Amino acid sequence: GRKFFVGGNWKCNGTTEEVKKIVATLNAGEVPSPDVVEVVVSPPYVFLPVVKSSLRPDFHVAAQNCWVKKGGAYTGEVSAEMLVNLGIPWVILGHSERRALLSESNEFVGEKVAYALSKGLKVIACIGETLEQREAGSTMDVVAAQTKAIAERISDWTNVVLAYEPVWAIGTGKVATPAQAQEVHAELRKWLHANVSPEVAASTRIIYGGSVSGGNCKELAAKPDVDGFLVGGASLKPEFIDIIKSAE
Ligand code: 13P
Repeated sequence: GRKFFVGGNWKCNGTTEEVKKIVATLNAGEVPSPDVVEVVVSPPYVFLPVVKSSLRPDFHVAAQNCWVKKGGAYTGEVSAEMLVNLGIPWVILGHSERRALLSESNEFVGEKVAYALSKGLKVIACIGETLEQREAGSTMDVVAAQTKAIAERISDWTNVVLAYEPVWAIGTGKVATPAQAQEVHAELRKWLHANVSPEVAASTRIIYGGSVSGGNCKELAAKPDVDGFLVGGASLKPEFIDIIKSAE
């Protein structure tokens, strides 16, 4: 079976004081065992060392991005090698905010995923359509193209979690219905079955992101192809613990 996965994407939020508080809340939370749920939190780069060293050992950390090749003359970038050197096991790549605001293309994200995996990082790869694309009926074409750009560049999916995050649901409070999420997740699994392999389709976690909350997580988690969540806003609050509990 696919182990339930809950990621907390803190995005560009937090002060030293707030980070301490969030970690204390997470450390005090009663959650299912790591055999049942894999929990990964993703603070901004600058807080990675302090979160890693103060966070409970059953939770792991992720960076929110990393560079596409070996480090060097790339001012402002952080390399996959540096994350590995710091003992950061996970990285989020291709988040829609980076695709939209920093013009990261499907190909660029595919390159990043391949490079990060080659250095031993585990990757939460994000895909998702805009409202315009959904209304035009092209949701599946969009997410298939995003997934294809990754699939073309990697052969081993063991360390990949695919995060379906419809852009219209991110930070809007407008969550996809469980049926909408299930529909796309099932289609993505079909795509993996046809274009990668039946084994990869069966074993790859496909998680949902976009306005996930303590209130809506249970219904979403009950869907057969929803293998967990990537949580933004609610991952900064105590309700993140309730979302982790939806694994059971
Ligand atoms: P929200 O949960 O704030 O909608 O953000 C989702 C997200 O972008 C997680 O990566």
